Order: sequence, then structure tokens, then C-alpha cells
Amino acid sequence: MAPLHVIVIGSGVAGLSCARLLQEAGHRVEIWARERPPRTTSNVAAAFWYPYRVSPADRVHAWARASFAAFERLLPIAEAGILRREALELLAGPVEPSWAALLPKSRPARSDELPAGHRFGQIFESLVVETPRYIPWLCDAFLAAGGTLVERALGGIDEALAAADAVFLCAGLGARELAPDPSVSPVRGQILRVRNPGLDRVIVDEHGEGAITYVVPRAQDVILGGTSDEGDERLAADPAATAAILERCVALEPRLRDAPLLEVLVGLRPCRPTVRVEREERGGTPLIHNYGHGGAGITLSWGCAAEAVGLL
Ligand SMILES: Cc1cc2nc3c(=O)[nH]c(=O)nc-3n(C[C@H](O)[C@H](O)[C@H](O)COP(=O)(O)OP(=O)(O)OC[C@H]3O[C@@H](n4cnc5c(N)ncnc54)[C@H](O)[C@@H]3O)c2cc1C
Repeated sequence: MAPLHVIVIGSGVAGLSCARLLQEAGHRVEIWARERPPRTTSNVAAAFWYPYRVSPADRVHAWARASFAAFERLLPIAEAGILRREALELLAGPVEPSWAALLPKSRPARSDELPAGHRFGQIFESLVVETPRYIPWLCDAFLAAGGTLVERALGGIDEALAAADAVFLCAGLGARELAPDPSVSPVRGQILRVRNPGLDRVIVDEHGEGAITYVVPRAQDVILGGTSDEGDERLAADPAATAAILERCVALEPRLRDAPLLEVLVGLRPCRPTVRVEREERGGTPLIHNYGHGGAGITLSWGCAAEAVGLL
């Protein structure tokens, strides 16, 4: 295929991953984005490999598996900020999560591996992506390969379609107005960053009362979550949620009790009934959609990007 001039809308993980794969395929790539790293939702993500709040299951599993393999290849690059971590998912009963079969080292947890009061769990090997390091690293790699990033807020995509041979729409929640796609909606997430008291195991509990609870140890800090507030677009932190998150996480991992709180972060997950990776033509120009990744945009990033670029 002759090299094309491609405009990617969005510089979160979806846009940057597509942009890098397009560059590798020899295309000339420009990113247009209202916010650049570190001001994207992708920078806020916890972020561990875990297919959360996203569907359809069959495509999600294929994208998640492909992304896991791609992140594993990045493990030796220290600047990329990828860590291998054992993870424990707490379960309501002795039933494996649907995605457990994707991972070779997944197994039921022994009772001595479970926090007090819990009877069932799945141990698996996950990857933690330190997004404050990974997203800037990915962006730098894009720029170093000759890409340009233009900061501009778009009111529609016609201007991009007129200026390029092909356009990739990777605008996260912004796809609601740009596609336009009313099925895209925000699910607010609040997380805490505390100093790491020496933890190295991810714990996630989707089955407790209220919101999902997770403990994600990174190199220097631990991310504690979370909340899932549908349709809520408030970016201000909620002190009551902060207290509730701390309480739930300390119950799972008592060593967090005295960990100093470093920061409270809020982001809006770009949810859609199903992820949209799809091609259409507008006025003769290919428009490739890659958005609606909900709570799993990092987990699915390389798999979705590879499929989207394949559609070109
Ligand atoms: C608290 C929290 C925890 C999370 N934890 C995890 C996790 O553990 N694992 C995981 O896989 N995922 C997690 N996620 C989900 C993940 O963050 C998202 O799925 C992912 O960041 C979406 O990436 P994106 O590139 O589609 O969108 P974004 O990162 O939001 O990027 C969108 C881009 O489009 C641009 N844009 C939007 N509108 C316009 C416009 N009109 N004009 C120009 N540019 C525009 C934006 O400026 C931005 O550059 C979490 C999310 C939150 C909030």
C-alpha cells in the first residue's frame, strides 16, 4: 500500500497506539487532540490488565489477549513503565471469570491467599501499566518517529476528512459529539494514590457491596479504587468517596492503613454498549472508529489498534 497521510483524532492510549502502528506501516501520521498527555483520561487509568466494563466478550477477549502479548514485549523497556504483577480477583463463588482461560498462569486461589472474610478468588498474572510513565513514553516514541501532534478542539470531523487520506476517530468520550454517537456515555471513576508500603500484589473485588474495589501496587505508589458513577461528569473529587475507598481497600490489605495519601484523581471512562472498531467511508475518505473502551482502554489498546489499522 502506498504511504498515506493519516489524521488520528485523540492522543489518549487509543489514538497513540493507532498512530504508532500506522507509522510502523509507513504512513505519515498527524494527531489532532483537544488535550495532549498528561491531560487525557488515559493518564489517570489505574491501570492493570483487566477486561472491566467492556463488551462484546468474544472480541474483547481477542483484543485483551493481543494487548497482553504486546505489553509483555515492552516489559524490558524500563521507560515504558510496564510491571508484571500477581493479581487476585475475589469472587462470589467457585466460578472462574470468563477471561481466566486467556492467561496461562490463572488458577483458583488457596484459602491462605485470601483476605479475611473471603472464600473464593482467582490468582492470575497481570500487567500493570504505569500510565504517568507509559503514555508520555508512547507519545515521545510517536514524535521521535516523525509524527506531529496538533492541539486543537474539534467541533466535527469534516475538517480532518478534508485534510487527510484517512481519519482515525480515537476521541474517547469526545466521540459522542464527533462521530456523533449518543450511545457513548461517561462512567466517572475516582481513585487514590498512596505511598507504597511494600505491596506487590494487585487485588480486585467486583463483587463487594457498592463499587468495584482495587489495590494496584506500582513501583513507588499504590492506586486504590474506586467508583463507577454512570452518567456523572463531575471531575471534582468527592471526599466521601475518598473515605469509602480507603476503608474498603484497608479491609482487603491492612498494610495500607497508614500509607500517606499522595493524590486523589478523577477520570471519565468512555463507555459504550460495545467497543466500536469499525470502518466507514465519508465523502470518499476512509473513517476508522476506535472508541468506547469503557474501563478497559489500556487492557485492549494494542489489540484494538491492530484491528483498526488492519481496516485501513
Ligand atoms: C479511574 C479510572 C481507572 C481506570 N483503570 C483502568 C485500568 O485499570 N485498566 C484499563 O485498561 N483501563 C482503565 N481505565 C479506562 C481507560 O482509562 C480508558 O478506557 C482509556 O483511557 C480510553 O482511552 P481513549 O484514548 O479512548 O480516551 P482518552 O484517554 O480520553 O483520550 C481521548 C482523546 O481525544 C481527544 N478529544 C476528545 N474530544 C475531542 C475533540 N472534540 N476535539 C479534539 N480532540 C478531542 C482528547 O483530548 C484526548 O486526547 C480507567 C479509567 C478511569 C477513569
